[in-house]
Amino acid sequence: MTTAVLASWACHPDRSRGRRFAEADAPTRNHHQRDRDRIVHSSAFRRLVYKTQVFLNHEGDLFRTRLTHSLEVAQLGRSIARSLGLNEDLVEAIALAHDLGHTPFGHAGQDALNDAMKRADASSSGFEHNLQSLRVVDELEERYPMFNGLNLTFETREGILKHCSARHAKRLCQSEPGGVAQRFLSGGQPSLEAQLCNLADEIAYNAHDIDDGVRSGLITLEQLTEVPLVERFLRETLRDHPQLQGRRLLSETLRRMLSEQVYDVTDSTRLAVQAVAPAHVDEVRSSQQALVQFSVAMRDQSLPLKRFLREKLYRHPQVTDTTERAKLVIGELFERYLNHPQDLPAYFAQQSDLPRAVADYVAGMTDRFALKEHQRLTGRQVF
Ligand code: MG
Repeated sequence: MTTAVLASWACHPDRSRGRRFAEADAPTRNHHQRDRDRIVHSSAFRRLVYKTQVFLNHEGDLFRTRLTHSLEVAQLGRSIARSLGLNEDLVEAIALAHDLGHTPFGHAGQDALNDAMKRADASSSGFEHNLQSLRVVDELEERYPMFNGLNLTFETREGILKHCSARHAKRLCQSEPGGVAQRFLSGGQPSLEAQLCNLADEIAYNAHDIDDGVRSGLITLEQLTEVPLVERFLRETLRDHPQLQGRRLLSETLRRMLSEQVYDVTDSTRLAVQAVAPAHVDEVRSSQQALVQFSVAMRDQSLPLKRFLREKLYRHPQVTDTTERAKLVIGELFERYLNHPQDLPAYFAQQSDLPRAVADYVAGMTDRFALKEHQRLTGRQVF
Protein backbone atom coordinates (compact mmCIF):
# COMPACT_ATOMS: atom_id res chain seq x y z
CA MET A 1 0.00 0.00 0.00
CA THR A 2 2.98 2.31 0.22
CA THR A 3 2.96 4.27 -3.00
CA ALA A 4 6.49 5.66 -3.04
CA VAL A 5 9.87 4.39 -1.94
CA LEU A 6 10.52 5.91 1.44
CA ALA A 7 13.96 6.82 2.75
CA SER A 8 15.32 5.10 5.88
CA TRP A 9 14.71 8.35 7.81
CA ALA A 10 11.03 8.58 6.84
CA CYS A 11 8.10 7.45 8.98
CA HIS A 12 7.15 4.16 7.35
CA PRO A 13 3.42 3.54 7.72
CA ASP A 14 3.94 -0.16 8.38
CA ARG A 15 6.24 0.74 11.31
CA SER A 16 3.80 3.14 12.95
CA ARG A 17 3.86 3.40 16.74
CA GLY A 18 0.13 2.85 16.46
CA ARG A 19 -3.12 4.30 17.73
CA ARG A 20 -4.28 4.84 21.31
CA PHE A 21 -7.13 2.37 20.76
CA ALA A 22 -6.36 -0.78 18.77
CA GLU A 23 -8.22 -1.10 15.48
CA ALA A 24 -8.11 -3.56 12.60
CA ASP A 25 -6.07 -2.36 9.63
CA ALA A 26 -7.94 -0.84 6.68
CA PRO A 27 -7.91 -3.09 3.60
CA THR A 28 -6.95 -0.47 1.01
CA ARG A 29 -5.18 2.32 2.89
CA ASN A 30 -2.08 2.51 5.05
CA HIS A 31 -2.21 4.02 8.56
CA HIS A 32 -1.31 7.55 7.56
CA GLN A 33 -3.60 7.64 4.54
CA ARG A 34 -6.34 6.60 6.92
CA ASP A 35 -5.43 9.40 9.33
CA ARG A 36 -5.62 11.94 6.52
CA ASP A 37 -9.05 10.65 5.47
CA ARG A 38 -10.33 10.84 9.05
CA ILE A 39 -9.18 14.45 9.29
CA VAL A 40 -10.83 15.41 5.99
CA HIS A 41 -14.13 13.91 7.19
CA SER A 42 -14.02 15.58 10.62
CA SER A 43 -16.35 18.42 11.52
CA ALA A 44 -13.44 20.54 12.85
CA PHE A 45 -11.88 20.39 9.38
CA ARG A 46 -15.04 21.65 7.68
CA ARG A 47 -15.23 24.54 10.11
CA LEU A 48 -11.80 25.80 8.98
CA VAL A 49 -13.50 27.25 5.92
CA TYR A 50 -15.13 29.96 8.04
CA LYS A 51 -12.18 30.69 10.32
CA THR A 52 -9.85 33.65 10.01
CA GLN A 53 -6.28 33.38 8.86
CA VAL A 54 -5.42 37.11 8.99
CA PHE A 55 -8.48 38.77 7.46
CA LEU A 56 -11.86 38.06 8.96
CA ASN A 57 -14.07 35.81 6.94
CA HIS A 58 -16.60 38.51 6.07
CA GLU A 59 -13.96 40.97 4.80
CA GLY A 60 -13.75 39.35 1.38
CA ASP A 61 -14.23 36.06 -0.43
CA LEU A 62 -10.74 35.90 -1.90
CA PHE A 63 -8.66 36.05 1.27
CA ARG A 64 -7.13 32.91 2.73
CA THR A 65 -9.08 31.13 5.38
CA ARG A 66 -7.72 28.48 7.76
CA LEU A 67 -8.92 25.88 5.28
CA THR A 68 -7.20 27.22 2.18
CA HIS A 69 -4.10 27.95 4.28
CA SER A 70 -4.03 24.32 5.44
CA LEU A 71 -4.40 23.11 1.84
CA GLU A 72 -1.48 25.29 0.78
CA VAL A 73 0.66 23.92 3.62
CA ALA A 74 -0.25 20.38 2.53
CA GLN A 75 0.65 21.14 -1.09
CA LEU A 76 4.05 22.64 -0.21
CA GLY A 77 4.75 19.91 2.34
CA ARG A 78 3.92 17.07 -0.04
CA SER A 79 5.99 18.56 -2.79
CA ILE A 80 9.08 18.79 -0.54
CA ALA A 81 8.40 15.39 1.04
CA ARG A 82 8.38 13.71 -2.36
CA SER A 83 11.84 15.08 -3.16
CA LEU A 84 13.27 13.91 0.16
CA GLY A 85 11.80 10.40 0.25
CA LEU A 86 9.52 11.32 3.15
CA ASN A 87 6.03 10.03 3.81
CA GLU A 88 3.74 12.31 1.78
CA ASP A 89 0.54 10.93 3.28
CA LEU A 90 1.75 11.66 6.79
CA VAL A 91 2.82 15.18 5.80
CA GLU A 92 -0.61 15.74 4.29
CA ALA A 93 -2.37 14.46 7.41
CA ILE A 94 -0.32 16.70 9.73
CA ALA A 95 -0.72 19.74 7.46
CA LEU A 96 -4.48 19.37 7.17
CA ALA A 97 -4.79 18.97 10.95
CA HIS A 98 -2.21 21.49 12.14
CA ASP A 99 -4.67 24.37 12.62
CA LEU A 100 -7.76 22.43 13.75
CA GLY A 101 -7.48 23.93 17.25
CA HIS A 102 -7.57 27.54 16.14
CA THR A 103 -10.30 29.72 17.61
CA PRO A 104 -12.44 32.01 15.48
CA PHE A 105 -10.70 35.29 14.58
CA GLY A 106 -7.17 33.87 14.46
CA HIS A 107 -4.57 34.70 17.08
CA ALA A 108 -6.71 37.45 18.59
CA GLY A 109 -9.32 34.82 19.46
CA GLN A 110 -6.71 32.60 21.05
CA ASP A 111 -5.33 35.45 23.20
CA ALA A 112 -8.83 36.44 24.34
CA LEU A 113 -9.74 32.86 25.21
CA ASN A 114 -6.48 32.35 27.09
CA ASP A 115 -7.09 35.53 29.12
CA ALA A 116 -10.69 34.54 29.81
CA MET A 117 -9.67 31.07 31.04
CA LYS A 118 -7.11 32.56 33.40
CA ARG A 119 -9.60 35.12 34.71
CA ALA A 120 -12.10 32.36 35.40
CA ASP A 121 -9.58 30.19 37.22
CA ALA A 122 -6.13 31.50 38.14
CA SER A 123 -4.76 27.95 38.29
CA SER A 124 -6.08 27.16 34.82
CA SER A 125 -3.63 26.08 32.15
CA GLY A 126 -5.28 28.59 29.79
CA PHE A 127 -5.80 28.11 26.09
CA GLU A 128 -3.22 27.32 23.43
CA HIS A 129 -4.09 26.39 19.84
CA ASN A 130 -1.49 23.61 19.37
CA LEU A 131 -2.73 21.81 22.44
CA GLN A 132 -6.28 22.41 21.28
CA SER A 133 -5.54 20.85 17.86
CA LEU A 134 -4.42 17.70 19.66
CA ARG A 135 -7.47 17.88 21.92
CA VAL A 136 -9.76 18.10 18.87
CA VAL A 137 -8.35 14.91 17.31
CA ASP A 138 -7.96 13.08 20.65
CA GLU A 139 -11.13 14.07 22.50
CA LEU A 140 -13.58 16.46 20.87
CA GLU A 141 -14.52 14.87 17.57
CA GLU A 142 -17.49 12.55 18.06
CA ARG A 143 -17.54 10.10 15.19
CA TYR A 144 -16.76 6.62 16.44
CA PRO A 145 -18.74 4.27 18.65
CA MET A 146 -15.89 3.05 20.86
CA PHE A 147 -13.69 6.09 21.50
CA ASN A 148 -13.61 9.88 21.56
CA GLY A 149 -11.72 11.74 18.87
CA LEU A 150 -10.30 10.34 15.64
CA ASN A 151 -7.85 7.83 17.16
CA LEU A 152 -5.01 8.97 14.91
CA THR A 153 -1.56 7.36 14.84
CA PHE A 154 1.27 8.51 17.08
CA GLU A 155 3.10 10.03 14.10
CA THR A 156 0.23 12.32 13.07
CA ARG A 157 -0.41 13.37 16.68
CA GLU A 158 3.31 13.99 17.19
CA GLY A 159 3.24 16.39 14.23
CA ILE A 160 0.12 18.17 15.45
CA LEU A 161 1.70 18.94 18.84
CA LYS A 162 4.18 21.46 17.49
CA HIS A 163 4.78 23.44 20.70
CA CYS A 164 4.10 22.54 24.30
CA SER A 165 5.25 24.08 27.59
CA ALA A 166 6.86 21.82 30.23
CA ARG A 167 3.78 22.28 32.40
CA HIS A 168 1.43 21.06 29.69
CA ALA A 169 3.83 18.30 28.71
CA LYS A 170 3.84 16.94 32.29
CA ARG A 171 0.06 16.87 32.30
CA LEU A 172 -0.12 15.14 28.91
CA CYS A 173 2.52 12.59 29.94
CA GLN A 174 0.45 11.59 32.96
CA SER A 175 -2.27 10.22 30.72
CA GLU A 176 0.12 9.07 27.99
CA PRO A 177 3.51 8.14 29.50
CA GLY A 178 6.28 8.40 26.91
CA GLY A 179 3.74 9.74 24.42
CA VAL A 180 3.65 12.69 22.05
CA ALA A 181 4.51 15.25 24.76
CA GLN A 182 7.57 13.37 26.07
CA ARG A 183 10.03 15.22 23.82
CA PHE A 184 9.11 18.54 25.44
CA LEU A 185 10.41 17.11 28.75
CA SER A 186 13.35 14.99 27.67
CA GLY A 187 14.47 16.88 24.55
CA GLY A 188 14.68 15.61 21.00
CA GLN A 189 12.90 16.33 17.77
CA PRO A 190 9.76 15.11 16.05
CA SER A 191 9.87 13.17 12.77
CA LEU A 192 11.11 14.86 9.61
CA GLU A 193 7.53 14.88 8.33
CA ALA A 194 6.49 16.92 11.39
CA GLN A 195 9.49 19.25 11.06
CA LEU A 196 8.64 19.74 7.40
CA CYS A 197 5.07 20.81 8.18
CA ASN A 198 6.39 23.54 10.52
CA LEU A 199 8.51 25.03 7.79
CA ALA A 200 5.86 24.55 5.07
CA ASP A 201 3.47 26.46 7.36
CA GLU A 202 5.90 29.36 7.55
CA ILE A 203 6.63 29.37 3.80
CA ALA A 204 2.90 29.32 3.06
CA TYR A 205 1.84 32.16 5.34
CA ASN A 206 4.75 34.45 4.49
CA ALA A 207 3.76 34.27 0.82
CA HIS A 208 -0.01 34.30 1.15
CA ASP A 209 -0.05 37.06 3.73
CA ILE A 210 1.80 39.27 1.26
CA ASP A 211 -0.73 38.34 -1.40
CA ASP A 212 -3.74 38.98 0.85
CA GLY A 213 -2.12 42.11 2.32
CA VAL A 214 -1.70 43.67 -1.12
CA ARG A 215 -5.18 42.57 -2.19
CA SER A 216 -6.63 44.27 0.87
CA GLY A 217 -4.77 47.50 0.08
CA LEU A 218 -3.13 47.56 3.53
CA ILE A 219 0.33 47.04 2.05
CA THR A 220 1.62 47.90 -1.41
CA LEU A 221 4.05 46.38 -3.85
CA GLU A 222 6.13 49.58 -3.56
CA GLN A 223 6.49 49.06 0.20
CA LEU A 224 7.58 45.49 -0.43
CA THR A 225 10.65 46.69 -2.30
CA GLU A 226 12.06 47.39 1.20
CA VAL A 227 12.15 43.63 1.78
CA PRO A 228 15.25 42.20 0.06
CA LEU A 229 13.77 38.73 -0.50
CA VAL A 230 10.70 40.12 -2.27
CA GLU A 231 12.63 42.87 -4.07
CA ARG A 232 14.94 40.28 -5.62
CA PHE A 233 12.11 38.33 -7.25
CA LEU A 234 10.23 41.48 -8.20
CA ARG A 235 13.34 42.75 -9.98
CA GLU A 236 13.89 39.42 -11.75
CA THR A 237 10.25 39.27 -12.83
CA LEU A 238 10.41 42.78 -14.30
CA ARG A 239 13.67 41.92 -16.02
CA ASP A 240 11.97 38.98 -17.77
CA HIS A 241 8.58 40.67 -18.25
CA PRO A 242 9.11 44.47 -18.32
CA GLN A 243 5.43 45.20 -19.09
CA LEU A 244 4.01 43.18 -16.24
CA GLN A 245 2.05 44.99 -13.52
CA GLY A 246 -0.66 44.63 -10.92
CA ARG A 247 -1.84 41.18 -9.87
CA ARG A 248 0.21 39.28 -12.43
CA LEU A 249 3.37 41.02 -11.32
CA LEU A 250 2.65 40.19 -7.69
CA SER A 251 1.69 36.58 -8.47
CA GLU A 252 4.78 35.91 -10.55
CA THR A 253 7.00 37.50 -7.88
CA LEU A 254 5.46 35.35 -5.14
CA ARG A 255 5.54 32.24 -7.30
CA ARG A 256 9.27 32.68 -7.82
CA MET A 257 9.83 33.36 -4.12
CA LEU A 258 7.86 30.27 -3.10
CA SER A 259 9.72 28.05 -5.56
CA GLU A 260 13.08 29.34 -4.37
CA GLN A 261 12.16 28.63 -0.74
CA VAL A 262 10.95 25.13 -1.60
CA TYR A 263 14.21 24.35 -3.46
CA ASP A 264 16.23 25.88 -0.64
CA VAL A 265 14.57 23.76 2.06
CA THR A 266 14.86 20.67 -0.09
CA ASP A 267 18.58 21.14 -0.74
CA SER A 268 19.54 22.24 2.78
CA THR A 269 17.55 19.47 4.38
CA ARG A 270 19.02 16.85 2.07
CA LEU A 271 22.53 17.93 3.10
CA ALA A 272 21.66 18.00 6.81
CA VAL A 273 19.98 14.60 6.67
CA GLN A 274 22.82 13.04 4.70
CA ALA A 275 25.34 14.36 7.25
CA VAL A 276 23.50 12.55 10.07
CA ALA A 277 22.37 9.65 7.84
CA PRO A 278 19.63 8.41 10.18
CA ALA A 279 18.95 4.70 9.72
CA HIS A 280 15.55 5.05 11.36
CA VAL A 281 13.13 7.80 12.35
CA ASP A 282 14.09 7.29 16.01
CA GLU A 283 17.57 8.58 15.14
CA VAL A 284 15.87 11.69 13.75
CA ARG A 285 13.92 11.98 17.01
CA SER A 286 17.03 11.75 19.17
CA SER A 287 19.02 14.35 17.22
CA GLN A 288 19.77 17.64 18.97
CA GLN A 289 18.51 19.94 16.23
CA ALA A 290 15.82 20.05 13.61
CA LEU A 291 17.13 18.71 10.30
CA VAL A 292 14.46 20.26 8.08
CA GLN A 293 15.84 23.73 7.59
CA PHE A 294 16.44 26.70 5.34
CA SER A 295 20.00 27.53 4.32
CA VAL A 296 21.57 30.19 6.53
CA ALA A 297 21.22 32.70 3.69
CA MET A 298 17.50 32.00 3.21
CA ARG A 299 16.88 32.06 6.96
CA ASP A 300 18.56 35.48 7.14
CA GLN A 301 16.47 36.77 4.23
CA SER A 302 13.19 35.48 5.57
CA LEU A 303 13.58 37.35 8.89
CA PRO A 304 13.15 40.87 7.42
CA LEU A 305 10.06 39.60 5.58
CA LYS A 306 8.53 38.34 8.81
CA ARG A 307 9.39 41.65 10.48
CA PHE A 308 7.79 43.58 7.62
CA LEU A 309 4.58 41.56 7.83
CA ARG A 310 4.43 41.99 11.60
CA GLU A 311 4.94 45.75 11.52
CA LYS A 312 3.09 46.69 8.34
CA LEU A 313 0.30 44.13 8.14
CA TYR A 314 -0.44 42.30 11.41
CA ARG A 315 -0.10 45.58 13.35
CA HIS A 316 -1.82 47.75 10.76
CA PRO A 317 -4.43 49.92 12.57
CA GLN A 318 -7.21 48.44 10.46
CA VAL A 319 -6.16 44.89 11.42
CA THR A 320 -5.70 45.72 15.11
CA ASP A 321 -9.07 47.50 15.22
CA THR A 322 -10.69 44.32 13.91
CA THR A 323 -8.78 42.11 16.32
CA GLU A 324 -9.78 44.27 19.31
CA ARG A 325 -13.45 43.80 18.39
CA ALA A 326 -12.88 40.09 17.88
CA LYS A 327 -11.32 39.82 21.34
CA LEU A 328 -14.37 41.53 22.81
CA VAL A 329 -16.67 38.99 21.14
CA ILE A 330 -14.68 36.01 22.42
CA GLY A 331 -14.29 37.43 25.94
CA GLU A 332 -17.99 38.22 26.25
CA LEU A 333 -19.09 34.87 24.85
CA PHE A 334 -16.89 33.09 27.37
CA GLU A 335 -18.25 35.08 30.35
CA ARG A 336 -21.81 34.59 29.19
CA TYR A 337 -21.59 30.81 28.91
CA LEU A 338 -19.65 30.51 32.16
CA ASN A 339 -22.34 32.42 34.05
CA HIS A 340 -25.28 30.96 32.11
CA PRO A 341 -24.37 27.33 31.27
CA GLN A 342 -28.01 26.84 30.19
CA ASP A 343 -27.08 28.80 27.03
CA LEU A 344 -24.58 26.07 26.09
CA PRO A 345 -25.48 22.91 24.15
CA ALA A 346 -26.27 20.17 26.69
CA TYR A 347 -23.11 18.18 26.01
CA PHE A 348 -20.87 21.11 27.02
CA ALA A 349 -23.08 22.25 29.92
CA GLN A 350 -22.79 18.77 31.52
CA GLN A 351 -18.99 18.69 31.66
CA SER A 352 -17.39 18.75 35.12
CA ASP A 353 -14.74 21.32 34.12
CA LEU A 354 -17.04 24.13 32.96
CA PRO A 355 -14.35 26.69 31.95
CA ARG A 356 -12.66 24.05 29.79
CA ALA A 357 -15.98 23.04 28.24
CA VAL A 358 -16.78 26.69 27.46
CA ALA A 359 -13.33 27.12 25.89
CA ASP A 360 -13.84 23.97 23.79
CA TYR A 361 -17.21 25.23 22.59
CA VAL A 362 -16.05 28.78 21.81
CA ALA A 363 -12.81 27.58 20.17
CA GLY A 364 -14.77 25.29 17.88
CA MET A 365 -16.92 28.13 16.52
CA THR A 366 -16.49 29.63 13.08
CA ASP A 367 -16.10 33.42 12.87
CA ARG A 368 -19.61 33.91 11.63
CA PHE A 369 -21.21 31.59 14.17
CA ALA A 370 -19.36 33.39 16.99
CA LEU A 371 -20.70 36.74 15.74
CA LYS A 372 -24.23 35.41 15.37
CA GLU A 373 -24.17 33.82 18.81
CA HIS A 374 -22.70 36.97 20.37
CA GLN A 375 -25.45 39.06 18.83
CA ARG A 376 -28.14 36.62 19.95
CA LEU A 377 -26.90 36.61 23.54
CA THR A 378 -25.96 40.29 23.97
CA GLY A 379 -28.22 42.00 21.43
CA ARG A 380 -25.19 43.94 20.17
CA GLN A 381 -23.59 43.94 16.74
CA VAL A 382 -19.82 44.34 17.04
CA PHE A 383 -19.01 44.48 13.32
MG1 MG B 1 -0.76 27.31 10.04
